[in-house]
Amino acid sequence: MRPASLPADRQGDRRTGAPTDDTDRPQSTRGGGVRPGATGARASLHRRIYPFRVAGMALGGVPMATVLYLQGAPAGTWLFLVSTALLWPQLAWLAASRSADPYRAETRNLLVDSALAGCWVPLMHFNLLPSTLILTLTTVDKISTGIRGLWLRSLPGMLLAMAATTLVTGGAFDPDTPMPVIIACLPVLLIHTISVSLGSYRLIRKVGLQNRELDRLHRTDTLTGLSGRSDWEQHAQRLLQGRAAGDDPACLLLIDIDDFKRVNDHHGHAAGDEVLRAIAATMSALLRPGDRAGRIGGDELVVLLPATPEAQGAAIAERLRGAVEALRLDEYPDLRPTISVGLARSSAGASSLRDWFNAADRALYRAKDAGRNRVAG
Ligand code: GH3
Ligand code: MG
Repeated sequence: MRPASLPADRQGDRRTGAPTDDTDRPQSTRGGGVRPGATGARASLHRRIYPFRVAGMALGGVPMATVLYLQGAPAGTWLFLVSTALLWPQLAWLAASRSADPYRAETRNLLVDSALAGCWVPLMHFNLLPSTLILTLTTVDKISTGIRGLWLRSLPGMLLAMAATTLVTGGAFDPDTPMPVIIACLPVLLIHTISVSLGSYRLIRKVGLQNRELDRLHRTDTLTGLSGRSDWEQHAQRLLQGRAAGDDPACLLLIDIDDFKRVNDHHGHAAGDEVLRAIAATMSALLRPGDRAGRIGGDELVVLLPATPEAQGAAIAERLRGAVEALRLDEYPDLRPTISVGLARSSAGASSLRDWFNAADRALYRAKDAGRNRVAG
């Protein structure tokens, strides 16, 4: 048993840290192999991207083909279009899936996607709408991977490819976008925008669900299922504030397991955990719906009894004590756990939670000093 020190957060602040954005940290060892067990999002990046690359390149090929048709492009450019739109996604898949480090290979593939987009701007004679669309969508794709800085890393290759293709092809410039090309841009524009939005929607929903789960875990003591310390304190503060207006009686029970160290020492920590769980379950079964039990640290539990005069609070405490005394654990039949309970009623004068808690703590000391396994008020 420890002296009570309510405001210091002993166990109520098990915050889970914000996810670290390390998506771009290479997962492989220097030798290039993916670490055993690294079968998660990184190792499967190329699998997730493959269908999007197939669809994106094919749809992006439609406005390119329309521009080439209108400008009467040579066979070589058509061949390059077929290679970009149909062949490249398959080559990218092969390169990543056969690589010892698929994640790195797929990151390279994504950079090649951008360089190819750069090539297509001069090949389309800088036709304004499809050029802007293809450069924008390729960059959006880099951002959507969640790989930090990938879109920035993709820009030099994209610009270099654009400059080199301009030099090789002579840099013809015809930015006007005729209606057929505008129409040919629509499918990729619509489908890409909707699929990126759907991806964001799913992500937002998932983050929302995970935040709710984190909040629940933060509020609950994971071992016993009772309220965690900070949640219990908030509840008690609300009760006290509510009482300031009226004068409902309320009781606070501070409970400490007797000789709990001995349970751990003689039967092991797992047995100690089992005792804690069983006592918490016994208490929960006996308490009324409005009562609030919490674990404030170690083997210290606490119960808030709203709208409860002292005599009734003492009867409830005695019932809890008796139920724990009668408790038997199937796995540890020799164990005879008991608890000591300190009871404090909220007097009209005791305004702060700290005062109320200290009064219960003093009562708990009296229960321990009087020989344990008893209730003191
Ligand atoms: P007392 O009757 O004076 O309370 O004696 P005690 O042995 O119970 O003494 P105290 O309350 O100070 O000991 C608390 C012990 O609870 C110490 C620690 O090893 C144990 N403990 C704290 N948290 C846990 C836990 O989560 N699981 C288990 N198994 N043991 C815990
Ligand atoms: Mg104890």
